[in-house]
Amino acid sequence: MSIYPPLLRHLVFPTFDLTRGTKVMRRMGELERSQHYPLERLEEIQKKRLVAILEHAYNTVPYYHSVFKERGLKPGDIRNTKDLEKLPPLTKDIIKERGAELMSTSSRDAPIRQQTGGSTGEPMGFYVTKHMLSYGSAARYRSWGWAHFRLGEKQAILWGSSFDIKKHKKARSQLKHVLWRRMMMDCFSLTEETLREYAEALARFKPRLLRGYASPMYLLSQYVLEKGIDLEIPIIFSTAENLYDFQRESIEKAFNGEVFDGYGGRETSLVAQECKAHEGYHLSVENVVLETVNEQNEQLKDRTGKFLITDLHNHAMPFIRYDVGDAGEWSEKGCSCGITLPLLKKIHGRVHHFIVTEENNFIPGEFFPHLMKDAKGVHQFQVVQEKQGHIDLFIVKKPGYTEDSILALLKNIDTYGHLDVDIKYVGEIEVPPSGKTLFTISKVPVKFT
Ligand SMILES: [Zn+2]
Repeated sequence: MSIYPPLLRHLVFPTFDLTRGTKVMRRMGELERSQHYPLERLEEIQKKRLVAILEHAYNTVPYYHSVFKERGLKPGDIRNTKDLEKLPPLTKDIIKERGAELMSTSSRDAPIRQQTGGSTGEPMGFYVTKHMLSYGSAARYRSWGWAHFRLGEKQAILWGSSFDIKKHKKARSQLKHVLWRRMMMDCFSLTEETLREYAEALARFKPRLLRGYASPMYLLSQYVLEKGIDLEIPIIFSTAENLYDFQRESIEKAFNGEVFDGYGGRETSLVAQECKAHEGYHLSVENVVLETVNEQNEQLKDRTGKFLITDLHNHAMPFIRYDVGDAGEWSEKGCSCGITLPLLKKIHGRVHHFIVTEENNFIPGEFFPHLMKDAKGVHQFQVVQEKQGHIDLFIVKKPGYTEDSILALLKNIDTYGHLDVDIKYVGEIEVPPSGKTLFTISKVPVKFT
C-alpha cells in the first residue's frame, strides 16, 4: 500500500490548512466521527447550530433583523427546523438586490467573495468564510471515504477550466495538482480529438478515481465504448447535474468502475452523496438544514419538494432558507451501510445539454453559467440551440448592461469551436412547468464521426 495517502493526510494537508488559515483536516476528523452518531444526537448538533446562526443573524445582520421584527419574532421563537417555516425563503433576487444588508456587522471570520453563474442562469455574488469552506471541504472528503477513496490516491478530473486565471495562480494550482496527484481534463474542450487524448491519458495515468460533471463523463464513456478502449477506474464521482440511469450504466461499463453520484453547492456547505449501498444520498446535516417545501414554503416529508437550505457555518453572510433552485425527496429509510446521516432519495432539476459547434465539438451546458458569471448588467440568460454551429442567447438586461462586454465574453467560445451567436433581448425567461429554468437547451444530438 502506498505511503502517500497517510503522508498527505497527516502532513501535506495540515500544512495547507496552516498556510491558508483553514481547518479542513480537523473538521474532517470531527465529521468522520459524527457520521456514526445516533440520529437524535446528529439532530441535536444541527439544532444547536441552527439556533446559534439565527441568533447571530438577528443580532448582526440588518436584513434578518428586520425580517424577524416585521414578523414579531425573536430568535428564541425558532427552536427547531420545523419553526423555520416562520421565516421567508432567501431568493437569489434578494441576495442580488439587498446583498449589503445581508452581511453581518460582526462576523468572527473575514468574508471571502465568491461568484456563481447560478444554476438558473442568474449571475450572483455572495460571501463565504474560511470556517464554512473548511466544513464544506471536510464533508466532501468525508463522502469520498464512503466510496473507499483515500486522499492522496491518484484522481483524474473532467472539469471546466477558468477563463481568467492569473499566471501566479496557475503555477500554484499546478503545484497543488502534483501534490494532490490530480490529472486535469478540460470538459469545455470536448472534440473527438480531445476525447481520444483524454482516454489515452487516463490509460497512462491509471487514476483510482475519476470525477466530473455527469454529461461530459457520459460523452467520454460513449467514446471509450465505441472505440473499444480498455480502461479501469474503480471509483467515479459524478456531480452538479442529474445522472440518468443510462449514463450511469455507460460510465460504469466504459471505465469498469462504480459510479457514486453527489450533490453540492457553492453558496452553502451542502454535501449529499451516495455511499457503497446506493440507497440514496447521505446528507451532511452537521453543515446544513435542508427543507423540502411546497409552493407556500411549507415543509413536506413524503413527496418531492423544492429545496430550501440553511447553512450552519456562514457567519459573514448567513443563508437561511435559501432557495437554491433544485428539488428532491427524502428517503423514509435509514441506510444499510451503517452511516447514520439521513438519506435523500432523489435530487431533481440539474439538467444540462451539450451545445454542438460547427466543427462537431461538444460544449457542455455548464460552460455558459461559467462564462456568464462575469457578465455585468445581466439579470438572466438562456442559451437555446436549434441547429449545429448556432445558438440564440436570450438576455434579460438590468442597469449597467453593455453589449460590448457580452461580445468580449463570447470571444471565449472561440477556444472551443465556432458558434454563431444571436443575442436576443427579452423581458423574462419562461419558466417551464417543472419550475426549473434550463439555462442551456440543445435540440442538436451528439454524434461521433
Ligand atoms: Zn449509506
